[in-house]
Amino acid sequence: MKIKKQIISRKEHSVSRDSISDNALKVLYRLKDAGYQAYLVGGGVRDLLLGQKPKDFDVATDAHPDEIKSLFRNCRLIGRRFRLAHILYGRDVIEVATFRGPHEGKSPSHADQNKEGRIIRDNVYGSLEEDALRRDFSINALYYNIRDDSIVDFTGGMNDLDNKIIRMIGDADTRYREDPVRMLRAVRFAAKLNFQIEGKTSDLVFDLGRLLEDIPVARLFDETIKLFQGGYGLRCFQLLREYNLFELLFPMTEASINSSDHGSRTLTIIEQALRNTDERIASGKSVNPAFFLAVLLWYPMHEYKSRFVERGEHEMEALLSASREVITRQQAYTSIPKRFSLMMREIWHMQPQLQHPTRKRAIRTLTNKRFRAGYDFLLLRNTVGETELASLCEWWTDIQTKNKAEQERMCDLLGKNQKKPKRRNNRRRAKNNSQNVKSTMSSVNSE
Ligand code: ATP
Ligand code: MG
Repeated sequence: MKIKKQIISRKEHSVSRDSISDNALKVLYRLKDAGYQAYLVGGGVRDLLLGQKPKDFDVATDAHPDEIKSLFRNCRLIGRRFRLAHILYGRDVIEVATFRGPHEGKSPSHADQNKEGRIIRDNVYGSLEEDALRRDFSINALYYNIRDDSIVDFTGGMNDLDNKIIRMIGDADTRYREDPVRMLRAVRFAAKLNFQIEGKTSDLVFDLGRLLEDIPVARLFDETIKLFQGGYGLRCFQLLREYNLFELLFPMTEASINSSDHGSRTLTIIEQALRNTDERIASGKSVNPAFFLAVLLWYPMHEYKSRFVERGEHEMEALLSASREVITRQQAYTSIPKRFSLMMREIWHMQPQLQHPTRKRAIRTLTNKRFRAGYDFLLLRNTVGETELASLCEWWTDIQTKNKAEQERMCDLLGKNQKKPKRRNNRRRAKNNSQNVKSTMSSVNSE
């Protein structure tokens, strides 16, 4: 690659010290005062140049991890594949990475690749220029120098930023093979920044997508969260599908989208959930990944549930088995940490309780710690036209506005209309149950 170093002086760019967080500045100053080079790099510089608020600040330096550690009491060294330092200020983390260099001729204890070319260890240190060439995209390889406030650009990043282009540094084929997750990153930045992915950087994704199959599932889970919970989830989802990457992460969901039975519903519920998530993030509200994962796998789970019912399992039993089945299968593609898979199940398992409220159970459902998530999930299902849910949604919305006595009265009314189902064969029983609720709800609504 032809390298043309460009230095953009403070007068010629828009990044001011005021827009860098105090903690990032502290780290930069301390490194500089100790005689090391210190640069802000990555998303921090990129987003500030674009007039956006960076998600976090990353620092690059010639200090080695041990040297960084001895400068900061609040420092943790992390990562084996890519060793770096985290400087912790409460919940704010400044990531400090030592300049990386080329791997040629280095021992496998520092630099290693598997036979497909994937880098499995990247701890060879180098110069600023070498570091720039080891980063992923040109727009992510701009360095803000704390010594003189200039920006250093080795890869044409400023130009690509002006032209709204995501361009892989160096030979895109080699660089994707070194780390296939870069394909997901390309999509994420294209969605977030509304940039185009440059020709080769884009075309190769179709050929190399499959390499994601070899990435550890825990890393793919982390990337999935960044894609869907980063504030630009809907656009990421659409791009992932355009690039045939979504099917590699969520094959059961992709199959469900393409199924003739309820494909359009699967697609609509995901898009609606992502629209809501993006809006929540834009207005500073929190989001829980479990909710969205529950949406992604809801219809695939249902397909399993139908199979279990056909085999003679009772509705609730089939729901439990299908939840387990679908989560286990998904974990072959992206891991799902226990705290999230538990919540997904709780959301799913609450649906029958919400669909069939009974006098005895409704108040308990209302005080369940997952009620809000379960209720939001029910509302979402209603927006995609799942049948018989509209009046239920109204009932649950209504009951939340009432005081305790009124809530109990609402539940009593349910009870009056409820017949106790007789124990008969499984399938007949399930059918009767749903009829009971329908009649219950219509009488509630005719009040
Ligand atoms: P954001 O933090 O907004 O998601 P970012 O560009 O800062 O975006 P990080 O994951 O924080 O992304 O990484 C910081 C920088 O480290 C990147 O900008 C890039 O220069 C480099 N980097 C991160 N991951 C990779 C990778 N897989 N391959 C090469 N360089 C990478
Ligand atoms: Mg970052």
